[in-house]
Amino acid sequence: MIPVFDGHNDALLRLSMAKDDPVALFRDGGPGHVDLPKARAGGMVGGFFALFSPTPNQPLDFTVFDAPPYDIPVPDPLPKHAAAVPVARQVDIASALEAAGLVRLALTREDLAPDPEGPMTVVLHLEGAECIDADLQGLDKLYDAGLRSLGPVWSRPNVFAHGVPFRTGSDGDTGPGLTDAGRALVREAHARGMVVDCSHITMQGFWDIAEEGLPLVATHSNACAISLTARNLTDAQLKAVGETGGMVGLNFGTMFLRPDGKRAPEGGIGFAVRHLAHMVEMAGEDHVGLGSDFDGAPMPEGLGSAAALQALVEAMREAGFGETLIRGICQDNWMGFLRRRLPAEDAPATTQEGRP
Ligand code: ZN
Repeated sequence: MIPVFDGHNDALLRLSMAKDDPVALFRDGGPGHVDLPKARAGGMVGGFFALFSPTPNQPLDFTVFDAPPYDIPVPDPLPKHAAAVPVARQVDIASALEAAGLVRLALTREDLAPDPEGPMTVVLHLEGAECIDADLQGLDKLYDAGLRSLGPVWSRPNVFAHGVPFRTGSDGDTGPGLTDAGRALVREAHARGMVVDCSHITMQGFWDIAEEGLPLVATHSNACAISLTARNLTDAQLKAVGETGGMVGLNFGTMFLRPDGKRAPEGGIGFAVRHLAHMVEMAGEDHVGLGSDFDGAPMPEGLGSAAALQALVEAMREAGFGETLIRGICQDNWMGFLRRRLPAEDAPATTQEGRP
């Protein structure tokens, strides 16, 4: 079995909304895409686990994805207090999972040694930074709680940046990029050894982050060349991911895989392999990984949960991918990147930019 370290899932959000005890659900398994039994069955040793605040009363209507073309307007901005409550709850669940010995939060590069039989290695990721103030108040607390990755924005505007709508026929050039507060946020996150994620940001925001000198990372996005949708990346963006020493993680969400942008599950694994081949060609073979979007998006036929991950490995083999490339995509590339990016254990703690 090839071990898999995944670039993105929404298991903490799903667990936070469940009626049952989240620790028992994760330990024993149940509905959903990621839990310990499914991870063990599919070889998933860890990944980026997102903290996410949905917009109240404006849920994403997935039926729209059945009838492309579509252009779903971005929801209203989310006030800080409305974002902070779900995020705090999801942080608590991550802590409870760790206390129960089911996961281990990766805080430093020394923590990056995933063990297929041990606790899952979890990089805590903030998907949309609404719970952080424009003056960055709130970042300290999250960092201390174990946060090591953040996307300034989800597909919803905030004080830091503009996110892309879910839109077919678009390359993500849908509006402005980082604000001044957004530039300060990404600089500060980078200085602390955190990952800055571009997956939901506009094309302008992506190039703004490049201008700040950060490695370009899109934890869960695919190739516009195969599926032209605003959440995917153009060839120029994929090349920049490789050139800056960044990473792109393949999103399994059917509407980002399929050329027609539909959420239909048919043929998804085949499209997944086509995206991977193209992403490797553009970004380079050390800069492509997986970013499933488990528990956050509709999954393709044959890849319905973490338990089925080895089916994707098999499909890569059938498409002629070599074993080194497969291991790179599944785990080694994310590991290599994170070992360069996360703070070293003995590194002095940084607070505000430039000061020790
Ligand atoms: Zn996402």
